[in-house]
Amino acid sequence: MSSVCASSLSPGAVDFINDGRLEALLAPAPPDAARVRDIIAKSLAKTALSVEETAVLLNCTDPALCEEILAAARQLKRDVYGNRIVLFAPLYVGNDCVNDCLYCAFRRSNRTEIRRSLDQDEIRRQVEVLEQRGHKRLILVFGEHPRYNADFIHECVQTVYAVKVGHGEIRRVNINAAPQDVDGFRRIKEARIGTFQIFQETYHHATYAEVHPRHTRKGDYLYRLDALSRAQEAGIDDVGIGALFGLYDWRFEVLGLVSHALHLQECYGVGPHTISFPRVRPAAGVHLSDRHFVGDADFKRLVAILRLAVPYTGLILTAREPPALRRELLSFGVSQIDAGTRIELGGYTEAGDAQCMEREQFELGDVRTLDEVMGELITDGYIPSFCTACYRLGRTGEHFMEFAIPGFIKRFCTPNALTTALEYLVDYASPQTRAAGEKLIAAEVAKLEDGPLKTELLDRLRRIRDRGERDLYF
Ligand code: SAM
Ligand code: SF4
Repeated sequence: MSSVCASSLSPGAVDFINDGRLEALLAPAPPDAARVRDIIAKSLAKTALSVEETAVLLNCTDPALCEEILAAARQLKRDVYGNRIVLFAPLYVGNDCVNDCLYCAFRRSNRTEIRRSLDQDEIRRQVEVLEQRGHKRLILVFGEHPRYNADFIHECVQTVYAVKVGHGEIRRVNINAAPQDVDGFRRIKEARIGTFQIFQETYHHATYAEVHPRHTRKGDYLYRLDALSRAQEAGIDDVGIGALFGLYDWRFEVLGLVSHALHLQECYGVGPHTISFPRVRPAAGVHLSDRHFVGDADFKRLVAILRLAVPYTGLILTAREPPALRRELLSFGVSQIDAGTRIELGGYTEAGDAQCMEREQFELGDVRTLDEVMGELITDGYIPSFCTACYRLGRTGEHFMEFAIPGFIKRFCTPNALTTALEYLVDYASPQTRAAGEKLIAAEVAKLEDGPLKTELLDRLRRIRDRGERDLYF
């Protein structure tokens, strides 16, 4: 029984996750090779997979076929996204929380956690430092507490956009916060947010009930499952879904994510903009069973299968994961990563090199600086991108599928990745990163066909380098 009044749900609210059906899809004997290859071919033709087709890939155990799945994900990533990786940083605003999620250090029964909510001045100071390091895209993260209501979130977003240091500015603010009602989402939309992210954590009902005590706000499965539908009702057409891997069978959660993506697509004509797949990390005062822990080999399969299932949805890999694994996973279809991340409240100005577990939600696996991550991306041949053009030009939602429009990446994404990467190199990079980045940019420009676009791009790159102009997006 739902503890939330029906009027707070979206008009078509429905619990579209049928555990029995998903379990049954995962039960059959391994599929034959021809079926697996047909499904891979469908995905490589850039068609989203059904839940049943995704299950076939998940049921595949033959090592050679599993290799084919990984190889196909690499190819699809190259075909759809090219070699760009978008960079962002999280900014934790407050860790007060009325919920009691068993996996999270912010849960209210954790007495060891040092509680803090940044005020607007403190947010400003964090953003100044983030801008001085070169960030252009942030995600603001909040615990669930009445004080972090829609008006407060709105105010925080406006504060962030108002901070300008030198050439620095935050051009896109995404949100990860508690589910809102439609009015709350409307209010937050007015602040010009990018993506609103809400993770279901686990799509498996019994597990959901186990880790989210029933008397808490988050204990209501349907209210959370329906949250991003309410966001759509409020006009937020850019939403991010996710599952916290390690709570239940990872294959079930992949089917839950794909079901959710298809549900949003069917109801609103637009699927989620991003999918996140955090793995549970150690956290202060958290003692979870590791029964469903996802090992690295399965984690790679998971990312590859998600890539194939939803060819047009961005995949976000966070600094929860260690550097070497992040590096490897980029090739399987990840399109966005955070870098230079600190998640202690006030961590960008106050924390030293060591992480302070009592002040953060979980332990990070990758604490390298933005410049170190930029250097590695460039060495590996990726173009690091801080592009925010589509969202600022209103290119989102139902009528816009950047990846589906022929030539879009060539005309917009790659040039914007190159101009924003150059802004970083000129304003913030270490000498080594700058030298490597300039070489990469020259090589990428050389790959472009001669013509008006290339001429215009060369001109903009020159204006950024020589005239100090910024934000010259296509
Ligand atoms: N309080 C809001 C909520 O629960 O939706 C905002 C999100 S919370 C601050 C951000 C996300 O962190 C959660 O949705 C959860 O998936 C993830 N998380 C919580 N505990 C974690 C842990 N121990 N390891 C990894 N990720 C964790
Ligand atoms: Fe609170 Fe979110 Fe942590 Fe749950 S995951 S305890 S709601 S901050």
